[in-house]
Amino acid sequence: MLQEKTVEIPDFIVVRELANLMGASPIDVIKELMNAGVMANINQRIDYETAAIIAEEMGFEARPVAPPEEEEEVVEEVRPAKEQFYVEDRPEDLVPRPPVVTLLGHVDHGKTTILDAIRRTNVWSGEAGGITQHIGAYQVEVDGRRITFIDTPGHEAFTAMRARGAQATDIAVLVVAADDGVMPQTREAISHARAAGVPILVDINKIDLASAQPERVKQQLSNEGLIVEEWGGDVLCVETSAIQKTGLSDLLESILVLAEISDITANPDREAMGTVIEAQLDQRRGAAATLLVRNGTLHQGDAVLIDDIHGRIRAMFDFRGQQVEEAPPSMPVEVLGLSGVPVAGDTFRVVEDKRAARELAEERAQEKERPPDSQRPSLVSLEDLFQQMEAGEAKELRIILKADVQGSLEPVANSLERLETDELKVNILHQGIGHIGESDIMLAAASQAVVIGFNVEPDGAARSLAETEGVDVRIYDLIYRVIEDVDKALKGLLEPVYREVVLGHAEVRAIFHIPDRGNVAGCYVTDGQAVRNGLARVRRDSRVVYEGRVASLRRFTEDVAEVRSGYECGVGLEGFGDFEEGDVIEIYRMEQVTPP
Ligand code: GDP
Repeated sequence: MLQEKTVEIPDFIVVRELANLMGASPIDVIKELMNAGVMANINQRIDYETAAIIAEEMGFEARPVAPPEEEEEVVEEVRPAKEQFYVEDRPEDLVPRPPVVTLLGHVDHGKTTILDAIRRTNVWSGEAGGITQHIGAYQVEVDGRRITFIDTPGHEAFTAMRARGAQATDIAVLVVAADDGVMPQTREAISHARAAGVPILVDINKIDLASAQPERVKQQLSNEGLIVEEWGGDVLCVETSAIQKTGLSDLLESILVLAEISDITANPDREAMGTVIEAQLDQRRGAAATLLVRNGTLHQGDAVLIDDIHGRIRAMFDFRGQQVEEAPPSMPVEVLGLSGVPVAGDTFRVVEDKRAARELAEERAQEKERPPDSQRPSLVSLEDLFQQMEAGEAKELRIILKADVQGSLEPVANSLERLETDELKVNILHQGIGHIGESDIMLAAASQAVVIGFNVEPDGAARSLAETEGVDVRIYDLIYRVIEDVDKALKGLLEPVYREVVLGHAEVRAIFHIPDRGNVAGCYVTDGQAVRNGLARVRRDSRVVYEGRVASLRRFTEDVAEVRSGYECGVGLEGFGDFEEGDVIEIYRMEQVTPP
């Protein structure tokens, strides 16, 4: 037909431009390319013949154009700047590598079931008959291309890794149950993936249920700013039933499409570096760690350095338990031969030889032996924000905002956003309703953010995590106070403040009445330590029933200054005797955040 739409295609064309010419989504073009057996990413050049086939498949008539004289194609490299592992590589040394995928989403929406279903059905080249070891990550093969799945789903582990400086994930699959829809942890997961700058693919799971409402889920997701392709957005969305094992190949294919667009590459011809996925001490084999190679190729016999741990790779196994001699980029391998057990999220790198590894490790160990700073400086605190900004270290104030009710969340968020200046942006990484939890603190630590609680408090675990991670947590009950503080912080006017340092917790196990002294609680110190004269509060369920000070502290009949975790003691509190079994006494002190 003559009216057929035509496109003029030069000898070579970048995928993105071909899509533009046809007014089509680059994703569709990449899909067509994949159907035609061509793996190309959005910035890749394809030749006229290939482009013409794709154009025709997509309903266009292709015609060649003579390239304009002297035209030079500039292929833009899109590589996330945050990726510490790739900085030294020249673009021409980089080749595509398998994407590393983590499943995020609300509890019980099916993450583990999906991971299991994929592992059972798609594990690559199956002479091992699908039998896999659990090493924290596994790989599948789809049409000759691999995908690496991190086996610990959920944003907690994902962000804990980031907080240690490791971003192991390239793509986040957001699992939403078709019956349940977007839930609080779905929102958290979205914020965590966004804060990490990781592209999100949506998997609407449990599609088999009679109560499944996938369209409602898409609607809810659009309220969160995730607009699926079908609705004119650019978020890939698949529907699966992990139980009935349907839709899984769609999921895998979409992951590969998203990987193409995201331009996930590495240089296999260099010394390896990457991330510790998990590690344990094995009675028989010594320290065993799963390493995910992020760049380069890891070989048996390589000398590695992981923080203050060193070693030579004595043996490597893939997730099927088969011994391998080398591991290319994105491959997880369990390695033996380390001097100790590293921590998940630590970075490993291959160094020249075993001696260098040992010396570097010893240096690091010595550094650690110096008396620890009692308080690690906050990554970001409102007080030093202005200085950091002046020093060019801070360009935006990142905030995690939690409030008791939706009605206060929005006004606080809006007013905070209005405070931003030309120099300093205000970026609310996550906002949600409910107490401040560990996951909020982790997100703050991983993203150099401060946590603001409006009429909500951190729970015990979050409090101590904030302490160890040095995260600035601020609690307010009046909007104008939040605004005032943040405004002052942006202008460098914030006065130093005091903050709580939690020293420990003791659980009340028995109550004794002592004549003349009232009631004393027989306690077990569950963490940290109890100290005499420390400040104390008593928590019962989630309420605080007392705020005051420790009046007496005894071990057996002796007065003592402190009692460490794992020991029993008697605690008397100033002006309080109304203990109940199961109460938790939190002992803390106040400390000035910035020196005067
Ligand atoms: P996770 O907490 O996200 O890892 O969720 P799980 O994988 O543990 O799944 C929670 C529950 O949902 C389990 O009882 C699963 O059997 C069930 N489940 C998972 N996927 C599906 C599905 O596709 N359909 C149905 N009907 N149930 C599912």
